[in-house]
Amino acid sequence: MTLRSLLAPFFAPLLAFFVSALLLESAAAQQPDSPDFRSVHPRAGDTIFSPLQLPTPTSMRNGAGRPGEDYWQQTVDYKIQAQLDPGTRLVIGKATITYHNASPDDLDYLWMNLEQNVFRSDSIGARVGRRAAIGMQRSEGVGYRLHSMSSDGATLPFQIYDTLARVELPTPIAAKGGTFQFEVMWDFVIPANVFRRFGIEDVEQGRVIQIAQWFPAVAVYDDVHGWNTLPYIGTGEFYTNFGTHELELTAPRGWIIAATGELLNPEEVLTPTQLQRWNDAKHTTETVTIIAADEVGTAGWRPAGNGPLTWKFHAENVRTSAWSASDAFIWDAASLYEGTPPEGCVNTIVQSVYPKEGLPLWGQSTQMLATAIRGYNERWFAYPYPSAINVNGIEGGMEYPMIIFCRSRRSERGLYGVTAHEIGHNWFPMIVNTDERRHAWMDEGFNTFINYYSVRDWFPDSTGGRANPASVANLLTMPNQLPVETPADHLPGRLLGSLQYTKTGAGLVLLRETILGPERFDYAFRKYIQDWSFKSPRPSDFFRCMEDAAGADLSWFWRGWFLETGHLDQSLESFTPATESKPASFSVRNLGKLVMPVMARIEFEDGTSEDLRLPVEVWYHSHVIQEQIRSRKPVAKITLDPDRELPDGNRRNNVWPSIEG
Ligand SMILES: [Zn+2]
Repeated sequence: MTLRSLLAPFFAPLLAFFVSALLLESAAAQQPDSPDFRSVHPRAGDTIFSPLQLPTPTSMRNGAGRPGEDYWQQTVDYKIQAQLDPGTRLVIGKATITYHNASPDDLDYLWMNLEQNVFRSDSIGARVGRRAAIGMQRSEGVGYRLHSMSSDGATLPFQIYDTLARVELPTPIAAKGGTFQFEVMWDFVIPANVFRRFGIEDVEQGRVIQIAQWFPAVAVYDDVHGWNTLPYIGTGEFYTNFGTHELELTAPRGWIIAATGELLNPEEVLTPTQLQRWNDAKHTTETVTIIAADEVGTAGWRPAGNGPLTWKFHAENVRTSAWSASDAFIWDAASLYEGTPPEGCVNTIVQSVYPKEGLPLWGQSTQMLATAIRGYNERWFAYPYPSAINVNGIEGGMEYPMIIFCRSRRSERGLYGVTAHEIGHNWFPMIVNTDERRHAWMDEGFNTFINYYSVRDWFPDSTGGRANPASVANLLTMPNQLPVETPADHLPGRLLGSLQYTKTGAGLVLLRETILGPERFDYAFRKYIQDWSFKSPRPSDFFRCMEDAAGADLSWFWRGWFLETGHLDQSLESFTPATESKPASFSVRNLGKLVMPVMARIEFEDGTSEDLRLPVEVWYHSHVIQEQIRSRKPVAKITLDPDRELPDGNRRNNVWPSIEG
């Protein structure tokens, strides 16, 4: 999601947050405790440099932070036929689900995620006082109505608990290769007033419906938690299985559908003119209009005939699917590359669908989307999918494989920012599949980090995205901090955005630009993405993988930035002028809990200057370090962190002669 769409619902109950912030004070020193970290609680004698107590490496997740030789994960394939009745907002679905058990365990039951149930008035999400988090003013939905769950014609018993269902199996699914196929039939009414992750917008020429979290999906069974059964409360996002999704989506003839996957039957759902334009778009990087603004709703804009139309999509290696339908869509498309794409890249068809309210800005959306994807391809990992679609509707900003929802209609900066962010999620978590509900920073923060550089692809003069390390100094000194490694649903709204997006993103910028340097960082980060593409890393895998490939002990950084709270304040404590026998020197004191390398600029009276960079290891033994100045030239001024690379909470003590004096 975007930070903005996350925070919007929280402005109203701001007062409540101030109150809850006070209550949280006593919890400020709490550290996360999860199976991912046997213990990050400080032990007697621990310093910020002590080795992290990470889980013992296994042949599944090895000590180098890579998937080991016995790595396994489950695969779930979905064949879904669904119908949309735009008038009643009813979605009716039937799915054939094939579950592949690669785990070493026989499975006696399956857990399913039923996210629509969060909209029931008795849901946990509706009751934890954060209805805003699910984007509703009042609970009005009834959730899923499950009509049947069966396998081979035999009914499968199931029990529903809030947003979860336990399905009992006739016989266990065998370990290491067993499969189980079953059918589910369900329906739900899209709540009228929902704007979080999906929803409905009435526009001048019709309705735009965005549909997500729309089918009963098998939960993840993994090596760390077994079945992942944290409820869907609204803020914490998703952790899902990879698989193939075959969608057959039916809507009235006058409606356009965009979805996760490659469109398989354009000749059935487009007019001959539209089909020609669609094919043209596959051969040019220029935006081709498939349905123009003045064609929407006119005679002959849809294929001749009566009755609804079924749109067919096919997607592989996706962790979920979503779609959108409208009788008001303008549609344009372009190819990601001209001719043969660069090695390893796919010539994705990039598309935008939007109502005329999106104009004129949305006329640029397809080029924005293509620009962002090309940038990520070049810097990190090639976008693997044949299609990418930007949809303009009620949802502020939400990501799904190959399809994203963006609200922004006014500002070019806003639309590019949201587009680059939401499509960036196709790298984190759609390709590197993390557990978003427990570790939101591994998708929102990593994405905020890659967005930092992506902004310059569209606005070359930009100084970068919001993840500027120096600008998070205030965040680190804010009262009532919690560690970044805290589940999203446990965080107050004000911390969710600042920790899991901004602090994480800024931390990675700091690691790249200042601590490791771009070459060393990029090699390791690309290795992490490559090794964990289409797999599920834990935080400990990330830490180990980065250390292994960068060749650096970063325990102090992971602990200081992600696992604990603490701020940075380097202070230039004193200056001792040179004498006959001794060169001049200065001392620096580390006043905060965080440690960082030391950068200093020494300016001499003759107008020359000298820059000094000291590694973080200078803090191994003491909070105060003494550094000699080799040059005998008289010193005029010394400045710590002169280029403002660090999140130093107090810059007034960074200069000699003291600026207070
Ligand atoms: Zn996001």
